Amino acid sequence: MSAPQDSAIPVGAFPAPADATSILLFGGSFDPPHTGHFRLPSLARDAIGADWLIYIPAARSPFKSDGPIADADSRVAMLREGLAESGARRAGVATLELDRARTGAAPSYTIDTLREIQSRLDDRTKLRLLIGADQAREFHRWREARAIIEIAEPAVMLRAGDGAAQRELLDAMRDHWSAAEMKRWESWIIPLPQIEASSTEIRRIVREEGDRSERLKELTTPGVLSLIRHSGLYRS
Ligand code: ATP
Repeated sequence: MSAPQDSAIPVGAFPAPADATSILLFGGSFDPPHTGHFRLPSLARDAIGADWLIYIPAARSPFKSDGPIADADSRVAMLREGLAESGARRAGVATLELDRARTGAAPSYTIDTLREIQSRLDDRTKLRLLIGADQAREFHRWREARAIIEIAEPAVMLRAGDGAAQRELLDAMRDHWSAAEMKRWESWIIPLPQIEASSTEIRRIVREEGDRSERLKELTTPGVLSLIRHSGLYRS
């Protein structure tokens, strides 16, 4: 396992290079990060032709009743470790939501984050927001949903080749968006491979089967597993 300081993955409030012209943002709890988090966003970035990918760990999701189990520093360390091990390039971890929460402002609203990022960037830098199909379905409930879309058009991860899932998603969204908006949503869908992994599943296995369970090796990277074992995270 490489020491965090050896990692090529930059971490900071918003560690994107000044000359990035198009940045894909990916928010989540990463509690802990898993194979889906490491593989899918890079594929999405390349599919939409963005030149940089920024992971944004949330202090607390407005849609999750419980806060993350692992503390902010552990989640950042796991993300950076797993990204470095996965050979991620043109990727970084932004701590701005965690920094904001340290001053008492939680939960993490995407609109606030986007406005803060916008204020740090050149007007010409294009932002996109990577979300899962589950998040697209509920997007109308996000604070200032339409303002978010104007700042950063979503890119929606959907299982490749699953026309039924795409139709079902769009049908579920139709009540909340105009016909013109639905056309845009359709164009934002990115077909990606399916990766059966979730943070909930990792936490469940550690709790019920222990952190040596073989199944964990399929769900995240060796370095993330090692951090989980050494810190004792998720055991109870
Ligand atoms: P939890 O199981 O704790 O709810 P999670 O595995 O969904 O967490 P998050 O950190 O919440 O992980 O991930 C951020 C977003 O990434 C999710 O809301 C979801 O849209 C997307 N996502 C997570 N796992 C996958 C996956 N395996 N395939 C596609 N999208 C995913």
